[in-house]
Amino acid sequence: MVRRTLFIVALKKSYPWIQLSGHSENFAPGEQGVVLKRLCESEQCCLQSLMADVLRPFVPAYLGVLERDGERYVQMEDLLTNFRSPSIMDCKMGLRTYLEEEEKPVLRADLFNKMIAVEPNAPTPQECARGAITKPRYMQWREATSSSASLGFRIEGIKKSDGTLLQDFKKTKTCKQILKIFKDFTEEKRCILEQYRQRLIELRSTLEVSPFFISHEVIGSSLLFLHDHKGQAKVWMIDFGKTLPLPPGQILNHRLPWHEGNREDGYLWGLDNLIDIMTEAATQ
Ligand code: ATP
Ligand code: MG
Ligand code: MG
Repeated sequence: MVRRTLFIVALKKSYPWIQLSGHSENFAPGEQGVVLKRLCESEQCCLQSLMADVLRPFVPAYLGVLERDGERYVQMEDLLTNFRSPSIMDCKMGLRTYLEEEEKPVLRADLFNKMIAVEPNAPTPQECARGAITKPRYMQWREATSSSASLGFRIEGIKKSDGTLLQDFKKTKTCKQILKIFKDFTEEKRCILEQYRQRLIELRSTLEVSPFFISHEVIGSSLLFLHDHKGQAKVWMIDFGKTLPLPPGQILNHRLPWHEGNREDGYLWGLDNLIDIMTEAATQ
């Protein structure tokens, strides 16, 4: 089973590159300032298209494809480069975190075990008897147990500048809990919270006019929050492995509830909620 943990990878650089979520084998050491992520065609297409979209200032620069030891990687800008010992937070956006086409009825014991590790009573008697669940069942349970279903985003991981690693957010669900986490993450520094708030508001107004965004289903993508002691704070969109173009002519609202077939992702609804909580944190 692949271990998905929060960890720090020292990548032959003068500073440790930090990966807050995802599979470690998806990343490889790159040149200074460059992140290498195992090539996924949909992600590569997205990054390429985003370079010509109004969202370009909100995503890492796409630097082409690199082949190494028979493996192909997407090269992108390392967003940590201009920060000194940054604090980092990964928030997975959207109310749905899996693609409709992922709904395959394959029973998986590993997902059953991950579920009972967090919530022993979550599986039904039938699921207990099988000792296995499907991926959509696992993903929906993750959404309902965290804030994805109730707020349209969830915190995946945090690394604070003092090195503290926090990853146990699977049951973080309420506005109150998230408010406390945002305050803790920023040490209640108003100038940091205010920069985050402003950046999120700019991102929202850009998303609302972006030709890319209106024509893509954005699933499992994150906002990466970064700030440091120099007082700089910024947010970027990352992780486009499950961001897919819609058929020509089809568009998404990104705020409507999802029902099977409509492909809505709840991204903007989640961002509205995120901005409201960040505003509360910045003004308290
Ligand atoms: P998953 O789909 O499980 O979320 P993944 O394997 O698709 O993970 P990403 O989510 O793209 O991987 O990235 C994982 C982590 O790596 C992020 O949380 C972030 O900490 C770091 N990371 C990714 N891209 C960048 C980047 N361009 N600059 C700096 N850090 C990055
Ligand atoms: Mg991710
Ligand atoms: Mg991903």
